[in-house]
Amino acid sequence: MAFKVGFVSLGCPKNQLDTEVMLHEVAEAGYQITPDETEADVIIINTCAFIESAKKESIDNILDIAWLKKHKKLRGIIVTGCLSERYREEIFKEIPEVDAVLGVGSIHHIVEAVNAVLTKKGKKSARFFSCDPNDTVKLGGDRILTTPEYAAYLKIAEGCDNRCTYCAIPGIRGKFRSRPMEDIVAEAKDMESLGVKELTIVAQDITRYGQDLYGSYKLAELLHKITEATSIPWIRLLYCYPDKITDELVAEIRDNPRILKYIDLPMQHISDSVLKRMNRHGGSALIRETVQKLRREIPGIVIRTTFITGFPGETDEDFNELCAFVKENRFERVGVFTYSQEEDTPAAAMPDQIDEQVKQDRMDVLMREQMAISAELNRAMVGKTITVLCEDFDPVSEAHFGRSAADAPDIDGKIFFRAKHRIAPGTFVQVHVDEIVDYDLYGTAVVVPEA
Ligand code: SF4
Repeated sequence: MAFKVGFVSLGCPKNQLDTEVMLHEVAEAGYQITPDETEADVIIINTCAFIESAKKESIDNILDIAWLKKHKKLRGIIVTGCLSERYREEIFKEIPEVDAVLGVGSIHHIVEAVNAVLTKKGKKSARFFSCDPNDTVKLGGDRILTTPEYAAYLKIAEGCDNRCTYCAIPGIRGKFRSRPMEDIVAEAKDMESLGVKELTIVAQDITRYGQDLYGSYKLAELLHKITEATSIPWIRLLYCYPDKITDELVAEIRDNPRILKYIDLPMQHISDSVLKRMNRHGGSALIRETVQKLRREIPGIVIRTTFITGFPGETDEDFNELCAFVKENRFERVGVFTYSQEEDTPAAAMPDQIDEQVKQDRMDVLMREQMAISAELNRAMVGKTITVLCEDFDPVSEAHFGRSAADAPDIDGKIFFRAKHRIAPGTFVQVHVDEIVDYDLYGTAVVVPEA
């Protein structure tokens, strides 16, 4: 009987994709994948270490699984992902139950690691598999989707060269490496053959795509090639960087009906003195120009962005400038985070670190500003009919739910709607918006394709 392997996948979609590649390789090697941790022989924990809270969540999960090893039939624990890349020695020293640790560049050694753990026969052989995270050996690969079958992420590059001073990712994931265009287009076709209707493009910075491999920004060309090679209806863009929104990219988003008029564009701040200390390229003038260009050139564009409050040295004036910017630009989707003092990052050593309570208070103020804007924007949706990708049916509220082009998976809101008959997940439905409840839209299906 095949040994059973379980997975715990934490962190961002890019990490989730690594889990999907490891799932495929372990299954291909003949191991049985089990969703039930209590019956697993080996559990692989794919961790995140972006900020303090993510590190804590990863360590809590490892300790929970370590308990299983003491009390259940679990024989091996393998830790992968960003925490293992960043704290390999500490994991071994502080959590002796861990049998193997893989760096982020070593996901293709997962089968070797599982074999080693299962054949150690009790003798301690904690092993570390480390490939240089800057390696371009094999980015991506065949995978088992962990997303619903109608939606998938597509990673087009690994690593990052932007070197924001608060961010540990370049030190974990290495320098920016684009995947060859033909590999990405081939993977998009694979996704289509699996029934994917919504393909979300991810990397640390998708707008830098191609610069290392082809000497110039090639995201627009890549998107064009993906829509030429597939008929996937929805292509969504996450993790764009303000200083690389080229005119070609704007035109491709505007003119290509299958590229969603939605862009995730983290700005982090607007005060020039803060942006400078963050080492965010381009400054406030460029950010304002980019927002105006997107609004002018792409009618109805939905802009998602994120801001950090409490960065070292952030003054009341800086923060007030940020609040005014958010009020003035009325972004459709906003995430706000308090600055997290991450060791081994330049910002962690900066003077004028801000008190945690002040960081939190500023975050609350900014979120209240945004809640008012979101409520107004949502109210304007009442009476409109929009295309919704049905995700499922909720027996409690007896309503279907799904997302519109303006809602990215896992991070944005939902639309709840009633329909005359049950609609299969992955179906596009025309929904008339009847009312708003908190951040969510409620409506009625008006056009439903035949089942
Ligand atoms: S763009 Fe900045 S915040 Fe994002 S991964 Fe790169 S260095 Fe980190």
